[in-house]
Amino acid sequence: MIDHTLKPLPKVRRSDIVDRGLRCQCPNCGQAKIFRSTLKINHRCPYCGMTLERGDGYYLGPLCINYGIAVFGVVAPLLLAGFAGWIPFRPAMIAAGIAALLLPLLFYRLSWSLWLMSYYFCLPDELHANRPEDCDELLFEEEQRNFEH
Ligand SMILES: [Zn+2]
Repeated sequence: MIDHTLKPLPKVRRSDIVDRGLRCQCPNCGQAKIFRSTLKINHRCPYCGMTLERGDGYYLGPLCINYGIAVFGVVAPLLLAGFAGWIPFRPAMIAAGIAALLLPLLFYRLSWSLWLMSYYFCLPDELHANRPEDCDELLFEEEQRNFEH
C-alpha cells in the first residue's frame, strides 16, 4: 500500500530533473525507478506517491519520442544511405527492418522517462517537491482535474 501523505522533499532543480530522467527515476524524489517491471510503469512513485502515469493521452508523448528516435535517428538514415549507395542496399534494408522492430522495444523505458523529464523540465513547479508548503494536495494531477469536470 502506498503512503499518500506528502513527504517533505528538497526543491528539485532542472539539472536534477535531467539527471533523474536519464536514469529512469522519479523526477520528484529520485528515490525510485519509474518502472515496476520491464514494460509496466508505476502508476505512482512507490517512494513519494507522485502520479507518474497521468491518464488518457499521456502515453502519446513517449510514443512520439520513441518513434522519433527509431525513425529519424536510425531507420531513415539507413534507408537514405542504402538508396544513395553509400552502403550496400540489401543490408541497409535488412538493418532498417530490424531496427524498426527492435528499437521501439529497446527505447520504451527511456522514452517514458524522457517524456516525464521534458514535461517537468518545462514545468518544474508542477513537481510536488517544488510546490509551496501550503499546497499539500498530492493528487492534483489528471485524476482530480477529471473529477472536477
Ligand atoms: Zn518519487
